[in-house]
This record gives sequence, C-alpha cells and structure tokens, in this order.
Amino acid sequence: MSIHLDIVTIERIVVSEEVDYVSAPGIDGVLGILPQHEPLLTALSIGELHYRQGNTNHSFAIGGGFMEVRPDKIIVLADAAESADEIDEQRAEAARKRAQDLMAQKQQGGIDVAQAALIEQSIRRAELRLKVARRRRSGTQE
Ligand code: ATP
Repeated sequence: MSIHLDIVTIERIVVSEEVDYVSAPGIDGVLGILPQHEPLLTALSIGELHYRQGNTNHSFAIGGGFMEVRPDKIIVLADAAESADEIDEQRAEAARKRAQDLMAQKQQGGIDVAQAALIEQSIRRAELRLKVARRRRSGTQE
C-alpha cells in the first residue's frame, strides 16, 4: 500500500509521487506518516523531510510551511523545498556567512528582537541545506 505525496512551493511542484513512508518536520517534532494515516493539518518548521519508495530514501530541506495529511494523500505547502541533489552548497555557505556577519553586526549596535529572529531563521535554513547536501555527498542515510 502507498500514499501520494505532493510537495509544492509558490514556484513549482517539487514532488508528486506514490511513496511508502514520509517523515516531516512538524513544529512540535518529527511526524512519521504511513498510508491510511488519520487526517491531520500542521505547520512545519525548518527541517528535513524524508520519503521512502521501496528501498530508496529521498531527503529534502524544507524551509517551513504547512502539511495536510489524508488517508491516501499528503500535501506539503513549503516556503522553500530542495532535494539533496538540488542544493547548491556554495550558495548555502555564502547565505550562512552573510547571516552570521549580519547577526554579529546587529548585536554590536543593539539588536531588534524581530530582526534577530529573521536572521536566526536564515542561519537555520543555510545550516539545514548544508547538512542535507553533505549527508548525500558522503552517502550516509538516517
Ligand atoms: P539565499 O540567501 O541563498 O537566497 P535564502 O535562505 O534567502 O537563501 P530562500 O528564501 O529560503 O533562500 O529560498 C529562495 C529560493 O531559492 C527557493 O526557491 C529555494 O528553494 C532556493 N534556494 C535557496 N538556497 C538554495 C541553495 N543553497 N540551493 C538551492 N536552492 C536554494
């Protein structure tokens, strides 16, 4: 038995596949979903999403969003989503450095809490992208 998984962003359809299992970064922790799961609607945090098709695992970096689960279908509306293969590591390194430098600069000048939270999120997105891309490159899986 399988479940249909759609991952979409405002820009594109990232995934539309029949899968065996999904684990997603719910805001209250990782959610594991098998076919025939009970209906669920949840916000997602910045984190990793994995799905399994047969013996193959696929990993994605998710920049937050929402997920709706029905017994036969999972819909992920992501703020950003990239497969491990799509992640540009140099770009993520540059984004992390930019955000860290900005944080250091802002901390010296007295930082606004809302601004700090946005910069913190940029750092988390960049670090997640690096983690997902590097794990794929090193060939290790969860
Ligand atoms: P950057 O500062 O590098 O743009 P960001 O965290 O601001 O990073 P987002 O706003 O999360 O970027 O994403 C904007 C778009 O760029 C999305 O389509 C996202 O999938 C894509 N994207 C961002 N960083 C990368 C990356 N390192 N590799 C591949 N795609 C990326």
